[in-house]
Amino acid sequence: MYTEITLPNGVKYSQPTGLFINNEWIKSDTQLETINPATEETICSVYAAGANEIDLAVKAARDAYKPWLKVTATERSLKMLKLADLLESKTELIAAVEAMDSGKPLLSNATADISGVVEYLRYCAGWCDKVTGDMIPLTHNRFAITKRYPLVVGQIVPWNYPLSMSGWKFCPALACGCTIVMKSSELTPLSLLLFADLVKEAGFPPGVFNVVSGFGSIAGDKLASHTGIDKVAFTGSTATGQKIMQTASINLKKLSLECGGKSPLLVFNDADLEQAAKWASFGVMYNSGQNCTANSRILVQSEVYDKFIELFKEEVSKEWRIGDPFHKDSTLGPIISKGQYDKIHSYIKKGIDEGARLVLGDEPIAMKSGYFINPTVFADCDNSMTIVREEIFGPVVAISKFTTEEEGVDMANDTIYGLAAMVFSKDFERAHRVGDLLEAGSVYLNSSNDESCKVPFGGFKMSGVGRELGKEGINLYTEVKSIFVNYGNKL
Ligand code: NAD
Repeated sequence: MYTEITLPNGVKYSQPTGLFINNEWIKSDTQLETINPATEETICSVYAAGANEIDLAVKAARDAYKPWLKVTATERSLKMLKLADLLESKTELIAAVEAMDSGKPLLSNATADISGVVEYLRYCAGWCDKVTGDMIPLTHNRFAITKRYPLVVGQIVPWNYPLSMSGWKFCPALACGCTIVMKSSELTPLSLLLFADLVKEAGFPPGVFNVVSGFGSIAGDKLASHTGIDKVAFTGSTATGQKIMQTASINLKKLSLECGGKSPLLVFNDADLEQAAKWASFGVMYNSGQNCTANSRILVQSEVYDKFIELFKEEVSKEWRIGDPFHKDSTLGPIISKGQYDKIHSYIKKGIDEGARLVLGDEPIAMKSGYFINPTVFADCDNSMTIVREEIFGPVVAISKFTTEEEGVDMANDTIYGLAAMVFSKDFERAHRVGDLLEAGSVYLNSSNDESCKVPFGGFKMSGVGRELGKEGINLYTEVKSIFVNYGNKL
């Protein structure tokens, strides 16, 4: 069940197209087409899971669960390390496949994404034998212990970091001894299917890690509602997260949700403005702004407002070069789909209609095809505007002015989201004081979109539930059992 594909860089490879269940490739009745957003051409079709195939995948994960429990932590860890080595050896190919399937520039984005998964597999492999419980002394002849039990998990991921967002989920789940049904985004199924072959090669038994392509409303909904699944881990939009929370209530599944954001970046009068402009530009335009933690709102204190806009405009114009994702000089790829492309354009129109000042973005685009959008900068925005309130998920940023520290913090927190927030100030005390007040799961003092697999990540408010990565990410994948032990007589 493979199709021969020639990548835009001329490399030929065999793309799996089936559903990976029980370490075998199977077919279904329906297929979905995946499109190269830089050319608007169909790359290939893959089999899409319906309700029956989700049943099969969940059964495979359930059946694999008990035998997998008997595999030692050391053995699991060694398999994860082998998987990391296999993935590392295929980085070039899988990065190129993601560049084709998602449009992210190969050199500046896609390669780093795959290396990040290799790193996280190795980090989590180190956790396998450290997922332990506690001993809690009670009286002289009673104590309690806690044990952690793995789960059968359903994992649902978006298109903006196809393998990377999957890795955030399967690495800790494998470390804890869970069995998995993973559903990719219908817009970017290819890299995860290639990865599935490596799972088998690394020696994971059938049923431990199942991968299905499929549509959200069919396969995703069935997985989130399936009573054979103990926990759902989801990354995607807040609207879908809300739906999944309802669907998963059928058997009170454990849930972790990584959802949308509208992250504020505050620039104070005393900031290093050149640094602030550099980080702000990186933080909002990277991956064409299709980034949940994009600092898509910039709040600048009044004294440095004009100067910052000048520097920011310069920086954005210099750094972001629209182009073929396979060209070494391209730093800005296309938007993932025609739907997202149209949605972003409608936000840009709304920005203009609602009175924001367009500072950058209406230059012509040289590309003949593809869903490319210029880096777009609006100034003189206020918190009533749609482009300030809603997640655009594209290379569009709204700049507003504030006067006092208190006003800046209030404006930053005036949102339903709470994923990330950034503060630029050379005053150490102020940076920490403001950082403490910002309602966000990740706060960056004098940087933006910094990241490490060792550091927990997740959202306040409607940006999510739970924390992935680091030790917190490991804790998402076990159920705790308390065991009371008595070695005395009842009086
Ligand atoms: P999306 O919500 O449309 O889809 C995400 C996944 O959910 C896809 O696999 C999709 O098929 C599936 N899905 C859709 N409807 C479903 C349903 N009813 N039941 C079950 N599954 C369903 O999101 P997207 O457009 O793929 O991704 C963009 C969004 O993801 C943005 O809002 C972004 O902020 C968010 N995101 C968040 C993080 C984070 O860590 N917080 C990271 C990346 C992306």
